[in-house]
Amino acid sequence: EAITVANLAKQMGVKATEIIKKLLLLGLPANINQAIDFDAAALVASEFGYEVEKAGFEEEDILQATEDKPEDLQPRPPVVTVMGHVDHGKTSLLDAIRHTNVIDGEAGGITQHIGAYFVEMDGGRITFLDTPGHEAFTAMRARGAKVTDLVILVVAADDGVMQQTIEAINHSKAAQVPIMVAINKIDKPNANVDRVKRELAEHGLIPEEWGGDTTMVEISAKKRMGIEELMEMVLLQAELLELKANPNKPARGRVIEAKLDKGRGPVATVLVQEGTLREGDVYVCGTYFGRVRSLFDDKGRRISEAGPSVPVEVLGLSGVPNAGDDFIVLADEKQAKQVAEHRQMKHREKELSRSTKVTLERLYEQIQEGQIKEVNVILKSDVQGSLEAIRDSIQKLSTQEVKVSLIHAGTGAISEGDVMLASASNAIIIGFNVRADAKAQELAEQEQVDIRYYDVIYQIISDIKEAMVGLLEPDY
Ligand code: GDP
Repeated sequence: EAITVANLAKQMGVKATEIIKKLLLLGLPANINQAIDFDAAALVASEFGYEVEKAGFEEEDILQATEDKPEDLQPRPPVVTVMGHVDHGKTSLLDAIRHTNVIDGEAGGITQHIGAYFVEMDGGRITFLDTPGHEAFTAMRARGAKVTDLVILVVAADDGVMQQTIEAINHSKAAQVPIMVAINKIDKPNANVDRVKRELAEHGLIPEEWGGDTTMVEISAKKRMGIEELMEMVLLQAELLELKANPNKPARGRVIEAKLDKGRGPVATVLVQEGTLREGDVYVCGTYFGRVRSLFDDKGRRISEAGPSVPVEVLGLSGVPNAGDDFIVLADEKQAKQVAEHRQMKHREKELSRSTKVTLERLYEQIQEGQIKEVNVILKSDVQGSLEAIRDSIQKLSTQEVKVSLIHAGTGAISEGDVMLASASNAIIIGFNVRADAKAQELAEQEQVDIRYYDVIYQIISDIKEAMVGLLEPDY
């Protein structure tokens, strides 16, 4: 909550000019009628021997979801993300699915790109997120959004497992989302399905026919071969996951994408995760609140309501939210406003003081406080050889109290994707003879991700060891 300088002065019984002076010294010039935020107020107040207390507002009190009774839960369609190396056919597969499963009568309808789409088949319904790749997936996760139930990993049969294939596997694993494989481009003369399976097996995805538990389907997205079978497998997997939600309550979901539309104002695609969203509903979305004016489905048709796993375009937002933001329907407009305003305030506060992410220096402290029991590490190195050596040594570091997990390792510069994964998984990034590219560096600062650079393997191991027992000196 913000407080004006005048009000703060009155409450502490000091002159406003004294406060303005202090603020100036802190590099926060303000005038008497200006509202300053909680941190600034707390800082100034402490100079005068006062402590500032926050007005007790817990958004959980308002947003707390009611527990569903088992009998209220109904099966819901799976939500699927397609991942894979560039040019292996993610977009082609999404297109093929969209067109293979057009139900008669709908065929004339123009499909809109709203960030997700819905297909209906004899065997059931499936929702596909339309932004393929692990970057978008992990960016959502970094915002606390878990929307994907199942990943389809596309691997081109003529190219095999590549860098981004491995990244996709590790990002999915870090999120604990099951993976199914679509071996694509089997129409190509140089397709080698067996090689792909062998390479996947090396990364822990063992095909079912070899006694493993990863479903692999051979397809050609271009020739539209194997698509139906792939869909059947998705539905089979989904059945095993027993996905359920209660449709009979106010909706909750996540923003898949959002934009400012010239004619229609702010528009967001929301994936409903539980409950049913209706026209006229009052909502909180990220730092915004308002009332749903109208809803459109992925075929551009106006609809009056959308249930669990259904992606829907929402009009009538008071601003453009971020992908991954939550979307929660409330009964009371006043409460929605209160939550949104509280969030805006907290957002500003966070801008000022940030540092909840794990860093090597704070590791020991966080272990002691019981905040973490597992240290996640992402390792990038210049050559494969050193990767293996470091991987082995890191894996030996786990103790009874603290588990050290290498969640991703690869060669090449530290990328934005690495930073996103670190942010989403609260991991530390280690660069061995490689640096972060400019964009990754910028993102790391923004996301508060700790990146460490080394050129001696021994030093990596000794730093992590020291950090685990609280002996590491800051690295400047
Ligand atoms: P993405 O980068 O993973 O989204 O890959 P795209 O879907 O854009 O496909 C990359 C290229 O591979 C395009 O030229 C496609 O036409 C081609 N392609 C995709 N699927 C197949 C396939 O099943 N067979 C063949 N021969 N080419 C394919």
